[in-house]
Amino acid sequence: MTRIFCHFFLFLVGSLYAQHQDKVDFTEAQVLVEPLPSTKSVKGTVTYQFTVLVSVDSVFLDAHQMQFHQVLLNDKKIKFRATEEKLVVPHKFKKGRTYQLTTTYSAQPKQTLYFMGWDDDIKDNEQIWTQGQGKYTRHWLPSFDEMQEKVIFDLSILAPKGYEVIANGKLLSQKDSLHKSLWKFDMQNPMSSYLLAFAVGKYKKQKLTSNKGVAIENFYLPKDSARVEPTYRYTREIFNFLEEEIGVDYPWQNYKQIPVRDFLYAGMENTGTTIFSDGYVIDSTAFVDKNYVNVNAHELAHQWFGNLVTEKDGNHHWLHEGFATFYAYLAEREIFGDDYFYWKLWETAQELQRISDNDQGEALTDPRASSLTFYEKGAWALVILRERLGKEFFKKGVANYLEKYAFKNVTVDDFLKELENAGQTVLSDFKNTWLNNTAFLGEEARTLLIAKCPSLKLFYSEEIKRAYLDSIFEGEHPHQLKIALLEKFKSQLSSEELLELTKTTDVLTRQKGIQLLEEVPPNMESAFASYIEDDSYITKELALYKLWSQFPENRKKYLEATKDIVGLPNKNVRLLWLTLAIVTPDFEPENTPKFIVELEDFTSQAHTWETRLGAFQYFSEIGFTEKSLEHLIMATEHHSWQFKKYARNLIEQLLKEDTLEKRISGIFEKLNSGELRYMKSKLDTK
Ligand SMILES: [Zn+2]
Repeated sequence: MTRIFCHFFLFLVGSLYAQHQDKVDFTEAQVLVEPLPSTKSVKGTVTYQFTVLVSVDSVFLDAHQMQFHQVLLNDKKIKFRATEEKLVVPHKFKKGRTYQLTTTYSAQPKQTLYFMGWDDDIKDNEQIWTQGQGKYTRHWLPSFDEMQEKVIFDLSILAPKGYEVIANGKLLSQKDSLHKSLWKFDMQNPMSSYLLAFAVGKYKKQKLTSNKGVAIENFYLPKDSARVEPTYRYTREIFNFLEEEIGVDYPWQNYKQIPVRDFLYAGMENTGTTIFSDGYVIDSTAFVDKNYVNVNAHELAHQWFGNLVTEKDGNHHWLHEGFATFYAYLAEREIFGDDYFYWKLWETAQELQRISDNDQGEALTDPRASSLTFYEKGAWALVILRERLGKEFFKKGVANYLEKYAFKNVTVDDFLKELENAGQTVLSDFKNTWLNNTAFLGEEARTLLIAKCPSLKLFYSEEIKRAYLDSIFEGEHPHQLKIALLEKFKSQLSSEELLELTKTTDVLTRQKGIQLLEEVPPNMESAFASYIEDDSYITKELALYKLWSQFPENRKKYLEATKDIVGLPNKNVRLLWLTLAIVTPDFEPENTPKFIVELEDFTSQAHTWETRLGAFQYFSEIGFTEKSLEHLIMATEHHSWQFKKYARNLIEQLLKEDTLEKRISGIFEKLNSGELRYMKSKLDTK
């Protein structure tokens, strides 16, 4: 998985509490599920084959609040017990025998399976998608929380006709009936239940083939056809690079990537079927601000690290996230160059060092460690390990590890042992200093960066003084160095100097200059105004805001010049523009009501939560309208925890103003039961 924000939420790995049935081995499953959009529920039938290793009195499946209509053991009805979280089948299961367990069930999942866009009248925005990791597949399929239970799952999905269905494995057939389509998929190898996935939507696809012949399908909605190239840019390069670099063939039959609405994370590496946030579906201008390259490489790397070899439990989570992060950085290095790679590592080292210095460092072997530890410290540990062993031994050890434990579960020691064998060395010191240690070894990290990266060496060298900035900014140095220097010397630079320095640099360095700028010098207004044309939506947004704030007499001109720009997928430029247009009395006053309606609409469920969040921020600046307030209350029950938390915090602030309590009470009749319950509890505790 990749996280979206840089704050570290505690991600407890499911298997910490999952029970492992080590006396039986589930091997295959035939699954038929039908998601039902009208009731946001699911019904299905699953048949499991399993072998009994040690005679046992019962077996169970993890199943959250499901109704079981029938349970068959070897095609015969059998008594069963359904609890809140399990289906238990008591029976004298005999050692050495194989059984077949079939159950027909229905459920109304509150998480893991999401229905988007089925309640509105917007055409073709309907989607259904799943998120298993951290959310538990047992909400839509009786399955296994325990990651060690690997099964060959063959999925069949019955979906409304006219939609594309994507699921793990290879599509075998698609058959239409009057209103529905049945999509059958085939898997050849086993996987853990948390990696099961399917997605439904009005998708089209771009087809690619890797150097080694793997079919890659990149999905998109027809309205985004012009965004396919920038969104999926470098996909083939990443795929070919990782196959080569990892040294083991891609382990699954095909690879699909599907962007979905209001996803919970940046991306999720379901087996062969990465689902990611449509916030990465971008045009060419947005590429420099926010692109899918890192997430693309990260989720693909998981297809080996996590999916092919899977941690035994949360104590070995480094083997997933540290590796996916590390290999994604290597892939980006291949595309964007060495400076990109080392400066990225430099950035994460700063953060890790700060936390370590505050005694908040965490060991990579701590199952409760933060994402920052698992991802970034995890990647650093591999950078160091590869350096110590040498590239060739490292690669050989990794390949041996993947081959030896393919389709199995692993521990950190399993991995280290393969590397020790490959390098003919002992790694106990590495284990103590980089894996078991809560501190971050900043000195070792810094030494490596300085030795490997000339621009970082220059950054740390004694002779870099304010006086040398001009020559560095004119020279052929990477933008990362220039940006770091602007940050370092910002207090010594006047607005004029900042603008002069960054005038002719690349767009990212200039963006940093504009960010740091306190004031646009009046004599530089027209030069600054040209930044509205820069190839970055973040720059456009910054430039528009600064121009509007500082030059009131020219507000109309700048609003006129930017009226057709929408911006990033979160509509950053348009939201700012509407807000400024609304609060500029002499700009098209006859259209102000129209602008308010448009900004209100951006707070509604018709838009992604990232867009809605931005619109709410502007309404909290200019004052909420009834409509935007109603939408804010609805957001308090959203499935994305970041967005829900934001909405709830904002409501709490607003309730401190007395007039708002009255207005909010007036909205109650439009709320559903969950929203109402939440709001009443807030008003009661006031
Ligand atoms: Zn990940």
